[in-house]
Amino acid sequence: MECIFCKIINGELNSEIVFDNENIIGFNDINPVAPTHVLFVPRKHIEKVDDFETEDLALIGELIYRAKEYAKKIGLNSSGYRLVFNNGKDAGQAVFHIHLHLIGGRIMSWPPG
Ligand code: 5GP
Ligand code: ZN
Repeated sequence: MECIFCKIINGELNSEIVFDNENIIGFNDINPVAPTHVLFVPRKHIEKVDDFETEDLALIGELIYRAKEYAKKIGLNSSGYRLVFNNGKDAGQAVFHIHLHLIGGRIMSWPPG
């Protein structure tokens, strides 16, 4: 298994886990772009948004739900935050195990570069 996020999920690779349940884990990004940068990752290996199927609808919903609940837990909901899926090469996706970035703790510009 070459997928680094599967290795984190299996415990083969260390990470700073901030959320964990039977479907999803959340861990701090190794190269944070803001004071808060957490990756919410389904335990199920799905490469990218393009590959979501109707059987994954509940999982997608839970991914967003867990991210926003974590943002609320750490108080980011009052200042705001960004949730990002990078899908494919042009978006800069580097790890092909789907993940939702939760980014916050500083003012961000739009559109992204
Ligand atoms: P992408 O560009 O694929 O949406 O984002 C991948 C993210 O995974 C990047 O922000 C990168 O810093 C993060 N990342 C890559 N390898 C590791 C790792 O081994 N551990 C952790 N915690 N984050 C990683
Ligand atoms: Zn994987």
